[in-house]
Amino acid sequence: MNNQQIEQIASKTRALVDGHAHIRNRFLLRNLVERLGGTIRLVEDPTEQEIDGGSLIIDGKKKFTIFLSPFTTPLRDNFTIAHELGHYVLHYLLIPNSKSPLCFTRYGSGPIEWQANRFAASLLMPQSIFTEAYGKYRGNISLLSGYFDVSSKAVEIRVQSLRLDGSQTCHEIILASEDNPPLAVCAAVLRGVRARKLAEESRERILQAD
Ligand SMILES: [Zn+2]
Repeated sequence: MNNQQIEQIASKTRALVDGHAHIRNRFLLRNLVERLGGTIRLVEDPTEQEIDGGSLIIDGKKKFTIFLSPFTTPLRDNFTIAHELGHYVLHYLLIPNSKSPLCFTRYGSGPIEWQANRFAASLLMPQSIFTEAYGKYRGNISLLSGYFDVSSKAVEIRVQSLRLDGSQTCHEIILASEDNPPLAVCAAVLRGVRARKLAEESRERILQAD
């Protein structure tokens, strides 16, 4: 399963409750869990291992529970819920003849954790909506964090994985933006980023030449 496939699956999952309007993630997530037949529970008395995150138990189709730590922030919890939904969809619903019960803890590792993280980022920050917001807020991480109800760290990782931080060349972006107004805004931002980088590089070269 590659990143593009995961983006598409997350987008279809989001569409179950989002339709075309962009609803706030904090409402979307709870609706989605309910729609898929799951419940969210706070672990009242977490073990040392559970203090920092969430876990998931799948008892069958439309029967799963996401457990959250009582000590994490709401923004962090949103990503955790989306991550656990990723496991439910990618590693249970879409696996032929999958067996239950299944349990996923935050101490899992390997490709399935990367896949669940990518699913969570795509679900909460869909590529087109995120690119548009990135341009609108001029890449301001705090504003984007507020807009998408996720932590700054989650926003930063999404910026990198969509290559919005100038790692994509201006030329690529401008080519893609011709018939896409949101991307045109983004192109303007990137031109600014690139201009600053070029100015810094030029200044360093001049200093070295001295
Ligand atoms: Zn996981």
